[in-house]
Amino acid sequence: SSLSNGHASPPNPPAIHVKFTQLFINGHFLHSLSGKTFETIDPRTGDIIATVAEATKEDVDAAVHAARHAFDSGPWPRMSGSERGRILMKWADLIDQNAEEVAALDAMDAGKLFQWCKMEVPSVANMLRYYAGAGDKIHGEVLKMSREFHAYTLLEPIGVVGHIIPWNFPSTMFFSKVSPSLAAGCTMVIKPAEQTPLSALFYAYLAKLAGIPDGVLNVVPGFGPTAGAAITSHMDIDKVSFTGSTQVGREVMQAAAKSNLKQVSLELGGKSPLIIFDDADVDKAVELALIGILFNKGEICAASSRVFVQEGIYDEFEKKLVEKAKAWVVGDPFDPNAQQGPQVDKKQFEKILRYIEHGKREGATLLTGGKTVGNRGYYIEPTVFINVKEDMLIAQDEIFGPVMALMKFKTMEDAIKSANNTKYGLAAGIVTKNIDIANTVSRSIRAGMIWINCYFAFGHDVPFGGYKMSGFGKDCGLEALHKYLQVKSVVTPIYNSPW
Ligand code: NAD
Repeated sequence: SSLSNGHASPPNPPAIHVKFTQLFINGHFLHSLSGKTFETIDPRTGDIIATVAEATKEDVDAAVHAARHAFDSGPWPRMSGSERGRILMKWADLIDQNAEEVAALDAMDAGKLFQWCKMEVPSVANMLRYYAGAGDKIHGEVLKMSREFHAYTLLEPIGVVGHIIPWNFPSTMFFSKVSPSLAAGCTMVIKPAEQTPLSALFYAYLAKLAGIPDGVLNVVPGFGPTAGAAITSHMDIDKVSFTGSTQVGREVMQAAAKSNLKQVSLELGGKSPLIIFDDADVDKAVELALIGILFNKGEICAASSRVFVQEGIYDEFEKKLVEKAKAWVVGDPFDPNAQQGPQVDKKQFEKILRYIEHGKREGATLLTGGKTVGNRGYYIEPTVFINVKEDMLIAQDEIFGPVMALMKFKTMEDAIKSANNTKYGLAAGIVTKNIDIANTVSRSIRAGMIWINCYFAFGHDVPFGGYKMSGFGKDCGLEALHKYLQVKSVVTPIYNSPW
């Protein structure tokens, strides 16, 4: 169906046959021990895509047992980094060969643009190659300690890792967790989000084909309070790496503390500012602001949900923003003309609409959007609020949808103060031609990622992660590899040292 603005033509999705719907434990696809299943839903229609085995605590126990055995006595942590790398490279090639099929799974499961998924999947294969190449460059240091002793450090894999990921980037999230931890020599259990289990299971199948030994990578689809909590409170998991909401992040830390003090890293929510100065090219700034909030229908942790525009260009910016937002094409993610697909599920859809209603009640003005699109599925118009006060809920809470809070500022100092007025600190964008402003603002914003004259520029080699309540511990880059390694110091005496 044509959904908005009359642009989107009837979609023609490829025929998708879902091949893998069971738990992947110790190298085998299995029913859950309880026999439980759950349905994964197509957000374009609300229809069921597939019925998937649901892991509960006993399945997680079996998966951890397999991972423990693979770590304690299997080949994976014991092979050379280059041998592991060779297998990971093979996996990456298999992903490339199956890119279209797995991209279609993500597009359908999460309502993501198929065009985008077809780029995302080859990009995760490259992320895997980056870490495959890093596996044989893991080494410690030699330390001169004293005349009588010297020391060296070993970097050892941390052990069995539990990964818990969200639904917004099923492929990128999966590989940003498993690639560095596999390269480090860890074994693992990963729980995809209940909304998007399909691509993870496909990747598990390809991992087996590539030669990743049984038990090294286990995939347990299921729900947070059951399968997720079984991971975070497990006594035999050495580290948990979590991406998701700040609220659940808290629970993850508590469960880790109450069980075996497993290490924790958290990639959480955000309310990232985009700050646009008077000297900006207004057309380009409008483009960045729209991409910053509408990419992946606003379901991205680093979304620029607060846009601050300097007063000199504010009126022109607002006018151009509305024109572009109204022309934005909301439609079926398989339609090549669509720029924005449906929200991931009914719950997220309703949550966003509640925030929009709340924004109106709080006294903000709806400049454009605010309504649903079409008569089925979970589509929402690009939405912009003005007359937003910094303490309003729509300026403080992460909405995780296509909803922008647009605000005006006078001086750079004001902009910095407002931008930092948040409990989050994931990312920020700065648009200016003035290098001094760019440098000062970059250093003044308390966030883990700063984009100057760009937005959402991610790289496999660029560490990504939050400050403040956006969490701690980085994905991507060699920083992420080191999350899955621990340092052992070895000290030995030196007799008759001449120095
Ligand atoms: P969520 O926290 O509800 O769920 C994330 C994952 O945690 C899912 O797999 C879920 O099943 C699991 N989970 C839920 N409750 C759990 C529990 N009690 N114990 C263990 N696991 C549990 O988040 P969501 O709504 O699915 O995802 C959106 C959130 O994720 C947003 O807040 C967003 O900002 C954040 N996010 C952050 C990043 C980042 O890199 N910082 C990336 C993507 C998404």
